[in-house]
Amino acid sequence: HGEGALASLRDVRMRYGKVVALDGIGLDVRGGEVLALLGPNGAGKTTAISLLLGLVRADEGEVRLFGRDPQTIEARRGIGVMLQDAALPPTLRVGELIRLTASYYPSPRGVAESAELAGVADLLQRPYGKLSGGQQRRVQFALALCGNPRLLFLDEPTVGMDIEARQKLWNAIRALVADGVSIVLTTHYLEEAEALADRVCVMARGRIVSEGSVESLRARIALKRVWCATH
Ligand code: ATP
Repeated sequence: HGEGALASLRDVRMRYGKVVALDGIGLDVRGGEVLALLGPNGAGKTTAISLLLGLVRADEGEVRLFGRDPQTIEARRGIGVMLQDAALPPTLRVGELIRLTASYYPSPRGVAESAELAGVADLLQRPYGKLSGGQQRRVQFALALCGNPRLLFLDEPTVGMDIEARQKLWNAIRALVADGVSIVLTTHYLEEAEALADRVCVMARGRIVSEGSVESLRARIALKRVWCATH
């Protein structure tokens, strides 16, 4: 495994019945970086995150979180998670939700600080169910960071949001990165990877088909266009 990687996959294969979700992938999450897993529906992005979180086990290969088996409690300390389709009690107020969630962790952030970082300080008295989709997503982000994680997993954090809501969440993510948190996120949007990521792994059909900085990725796409137009 990569020296100093916070989390890693090595030669990982994963099937759901006959469906191959991951077809032999390897990746390292480095300290201090924002790594984006970019790809279309069914590429295997969520499966990669689920493995790193220890929610599912690989059929083959090795998975490490802070150098350990991600299904151990020790490995899970220090991570924060924002998955797709979070269902939260609609009548609870945002402040209560953050306070209760923070109480699960040994050294949480205060409610005010978590709310400030996530850009929901003005929503603390509002019932969760009365918020817009974009506001709910930012509250989910506050819940992911309130435990004071070193490493944060965000599965399609801005899917379905309008551009204004998306930019607000991007800013919230940037504030956390400035605070020293490392991030793995999945996205369908090249602009999102461009806005946030230091490094991108492009996934398709259970494989990593391209990897590098967003600039190098753009250069390759442009080159391919020129190539296709002239041949
Ligand atoms: P999306 O962008 O839609 O979230 P993804 O890149 O995250 O897609 P995965 O959710 O990891 O992709 O899915 C990879 C493959 O595994 C897909 O073909 C999907 O249909 C299949 N798959 C995922 N979860 C299950 C499951 N619980 N049971 C059966 N097949 C599954």
